[in-house]
Amino acid sequence: MKTSYDIIVVGAGPAGSMAARFAAEKDVSVLMLEKDRDVGYPVRCGEAISKAGVEEFIPSDEKWIAAKISKFSFNAPDGTEVILDFGEAGYVLERRIFDYELARTAADAGVEIVTRAYVNGLLFENGKVCGVKYEHQGEQKELKAKVVVAADGVESRVGRWAGLKTHIDFRDMESAVQITAANIPVDQNALYFFFGKDVAPNGYFWIFPKGNNKANIGLGVSGIIGKKKSAQSYLNDFMNKHYPNAPVLTTIAGGVPCAVTLGKISAPGILLVGDAAKQVNPLSGGGIASGMIGGKIAGTIAAEAVKMNKLDHILKYDKTWADRLGKRHETFDRIKNGIYNFSDEKFNNIAHAVNKIPYEKRTLGKVFKTALFNQPSLLIDVAKVFII
Ligand SMILES: Cc1cc2nc3c(=O)[nH]c(=O)nc-3n(C[C@H](O)[C@H](O)[C@H](O)COP(=O)(O)OP(=O)(O)OC[C@H]3O[C@@H](n4cnc5c(N)ncnc54)[C@H](O)[C@@H]3O)c2cc1C
Repeated sequence: MKTSYDIIVVGAGPAGSMAARFAAEKDVSVLMLEKDRDVGYPVRCGEAISKAGVEEFIPSDEKWIAAKISKFSFNAPDGTEVILDFGEAGYVLERRIFDYELARTAADAGVEIVTRAYVNGLLFENGKVCGVKYEHQGEQKELKAKVVVAADGVESRVGRWAGLKTHIDFRDMESAVQITAANIPVDQNALYFFFGKDVAPNGYFWIFPKGNNKANIGLGVSGIIGKKKSAQSYLNDFMNKHYPNAPVLTTIAGGVPCAVTLGKISAPGILLVGDAAKQVNPLSGGGIASGMIGGKIAGTIAAEAVKMNKLDHILKYDKTWADRLGKRHETFDRIKNGIYNFSDEKFNNIAHAVNKIPYEKRTLGKVFKTALFNQPSLLIDVAKVFII
């Protein structure tokens, strides 16, 4: 190992690996430090992603595809199911292998990777971040870097150490639980979403197939709801009702920051990416693809700054991210807040209206228009979403 690097990335999730890889591809020295023993494990994710979201970064590969998704099934509180067919739209991943492969692409680009390396502080010089402190194999160490990229996930502390405001409103921090269960006889090519106050108030419940009748089953509810009844209780109720005897293979819990991106995701010597920057899509809660996009932008800009010997160049990252996805996430956040206020009756009415469209003519655009046409009061909600 060197005594200093151009760029040090903290965390080897999808965002970190892409930051590291895109930086190394510009011929700068990059080290990625991961606290866990294995890259990609433990998995805390529903593992659903669009095909386009994957293929911007890595060609699709059967070895990390658990299920190929071509349909969405939306389920209203009264049990009405609306099915939309999309062609091959996405995947449910085997993230344990997917994350590993992403890290391998970074290694191929020249990134040095060390696991079981826990970053526990930052180095500063004249108020600028200039490296990291970390513990590895029982020893406390320090390494200098021109730029540090914090990709340390939803519980990120690195950004806070750098003086960035990383706190988000309790309401926007979805508390999520999920099991992977066997013997779940659902369509292995469909993602299932369930709405309503009895299954997932201010959020949604999901069943994502993982092949061979296994499925990720879980929900995310707003931090406010979680105070009254835990996400785990909603999950238990659903399983007792629908799949009381399903063998449970894994159980996970975690936070999903369903908010707009942090106000500031760069400071002298440091950039934040992925969940650490709150780059999750606030409407869907999906953060794999958006984290990889954030990582790619940050890695590229950090490497450019090093090459130009103009480290202030990294401060351009906030705007580049906002133009690519950040502003879109602001719109999604407003839509999310609108949908959160829908009553069960409104979800039911929309489902009934949409089901009147013949199956083969059900595009997302048509569904949206018909929902508005058949439920004019929705127009006001949608207008509010965009105006307020
Ligand atoms: C229950 C649940 C379901 C979800 N379902 C989906 C889904 O279906 N689709 C989707 O797109 N998104 C989903 N998400 C969100 C998705 O998992 C995250 O947005 C995504 O993993 C973010 O990637 P990341 O690289 O920013 O962070 P992470 O994947 O969390 O990676 C961060 C890495 O940093 C490491 N690290 C942390 N601190 C340190 C430290 N101090 N030193 C060194 N290393 C450190 C961690 O060990 C970890 O490997 C879900 C989340 C949850 C909780």
